[in-house]
Order: sequence, then structure tokens, then C-alpha cells
Amino acid sequence: MRVTRRCAFSGSNGRCKRKTTITHPYCGQHTRIAFSVEVKKSGIPKAGLGLFALKTFKKGDKVVEYKGERLTVDEYDRRYHHEAMGSYGIQLDEKHVLDARKTTSGLGRYACDYHGSRKQPNVEYLIDFDDRIWLTATRTIRRGDEILADYGEEMHRALGFD
Ligand SMILES: [Zn+2]
Repeated sequence: MRVTRRCAFSGSNGRCKRKTTITHPYCGQHTRIAFSVEVKKSGIPKAGLGLFALKTFKKGDKVVEYKGERLTVDEYDRRYHHEAMGSYGIQLDEKHVLDARKTTSGLGRYACDYHGSRKQPNVEYLIDFDDRIWLTATRTIRRGDEILADYGEEMHRALGFD
């Protein structure tokens, strides 16, 4: 079952009345307008949903934020001790992990890993001065391109790529 809630977008005509899933702040139309990306079936076999550009992003452009809950490595390990790894965790530094599993606005987490595709990654996770993580273009991303990241070695092992 998909948990839905109301789109968070408010414009001059008031708040949008469309429904969205719990993981998306906006409905599909407002996601496209607000972020110039859309979530749809990934081009990578078995990857599920992926994230696609709706405009050109140049190298160095911030594409979407990877939002989450900042946890210490210990807290993160306690939360996911029963799994290989919570697959939405990104290590910030030696002591901290950003967990995007529970966030309600985690568009960034829909970026798939490039493994299993014939393509190369076109974004990397860059940590801002205030510990926000942005999927940042590592080369030109054109309208229609799938946004692909490199989850890193630890994530690869957890996901069974090695
Ligand atoms: Zn909407």
C-alpha cells in the first residue's frame, strides 16, 4: 500500500490539492516545477524508481538535496543492526551518517547507482559547509538523462555488487 498525503506546494491559488506519496513533498507536477527532476522507473534493470533531469545541469550544479537525519555511526548501527546496511545512509565523516530512509522529502535518494547500467555516474554527493548533502553534477546532465550516483564501496558491498 502506498501511503499518501497532500502535496505541499502552495501557489497564488492556494495549496495544491493533489495527493503525493509520503516520500515526496510535492505531487509529480510540482516536483517537476520545483526541482526540475522527476521520479519514474529507472533505466537500470531491477533498480525500481530512478531520478531524471528535466533540464540541463552543468558540471558543479546542485541537482537535488539528499536530505536525512544526522546520526552518529553508533546510532546508525543500532538502528540497522539487523540489516547489512540501511541502504539510504551516507557517511558524512568518520563519526556521522546521514540516514534518508525516513525523511519525507528525500528526492535525492531516488538517484540510482550506476552499476548495472552501461552509463557512468553523473552526480556525486558533496557535503556543504552546513552538513547538507547535495547531489552535485560531475558533468553535463541533459534533459531526460537519468541521474546516476556512485554509492561507494561500502554501499556496493551492502547491496551485493561485489
Ligand atoms: Zn502539487
